[in-house]
Amino acid sequence: MPVATNQKTPENNRPLLVTENLKKHFIIEESLLAKYLAGTKDRVVRAVDGINMKIFPGETLGLVGESGCGKSTLGRTVVGLYEPTEGNVRFQDKPLWGQGSISNMILRRQAQIIFQNPYSSLNPRHTVRQIIGVALDARGTKSIDKEAETVGLLRRVGLRSDHIDRYPHQFSGGQRQRIGIARALATNPMFIVADEPLSSLDVSVQAQIINLLEGLQEEYGLSYLFITHDLRVAYHISHRVAVMYLGQIVEIAETDMLYKNPLHPYTQALLSAIPSVNAFHRGERIIIEGTVPTPINPPKGCRFHTRCKYSMPICEEKEPQLLPVDISEQKGHSIRCHLHLS
Ligand code: SF4
Repeated sequence: MPVATNQKTPENNRPLLVTENLKKHFIIEESLLAKYLAGTKDRVVRAVDGINMKIFPGETLGLVGESGCGKSTLGRTVVGLYEPTEGNVRFQDKPLWGQGSISNMILRRQAQIIFQNPYSSLNPRHTVRQIIGVALDARGTKSIDKEAETVGLLRRVGLRSDHIDRYPHQFSGGQRQRIGIARALATNPMFIVADEPLSSLDVSVQAQIINLLEGLQEEYGLSYLFITHDLRVAYHISHRVAVMYLGQIVEIAETDMLYKNPLHPYTQALLSAIPSVNAFHRGERIIIEGTVPTPINPPKGCRFHTRCKYSMPICEEKEPQLLPVDISEQKGHSIRCHLHLS
């Protein structure tokens, strides 16, 4: 597996994408009968619950956390697939929603998403030519140029020109993911959300796809929000990593800084479980007790307090904010925990 440069985020760069107190809640409607008989109310899933983050041009922000923590919902919300419940996303300084918002056409061209399961995300009745053709149409490519553009994209992602008239089921999993990447590239985007793009692939194929994504980033200056539950993958590909728990970011820092000096008890536990990353973490494996609470009714105070071995009385009452760590060598390192902020 390749090793990312983990270079520092350019401090003077203007962010490409900013989220402002971003929330995405889903309402689970109870039946009229349940409401009438049991007096139950509709329930609210707080999948994304107050995210402030920035993504800079040419950077990969890794987003990690246990399954169900809201990573994919966040990914879909930042590319405009979901309308936020509260807050907003700014792309190149323009809001995605509300007054003065970026046009749908521009957003569709400049922000793309690569899905976890390439098979279900590709129309099985369409050939590769048709799949990529739809994306080329969004860019306004002339019909006469479409074949050459499609073949160029296929070659760039490691496929052959004669693959153009095949259907998704005629490819391996890795090849299908390459088609998904070619489709994303076809609109000439600046930003791509990669939502667990490796999780359905063999380890050897995972390394090839990481190489491909890194090469494309270098060539086109792409920014990625790279969603993964695998902290080893996040380490290899990310310049910075954000750790998510129950709809919120609990820690964010440059990759080396986070892996060498994780400060949040949740991050420490996640990292302690990974042998190959444990070169940085020389302590014992930290077992997180209990199960992840439901995002329908997250714990009051710090959402991690029900599983945290350092929990104090304040943790059950007061919700910690995501604030910068007050240590000069830890610039850009922010954490949501009373231990480090009180
Ligand atoms: Fe643990 Fe308290 Fe920090 Fe939450 S705020 S992570 S409960 S020490």
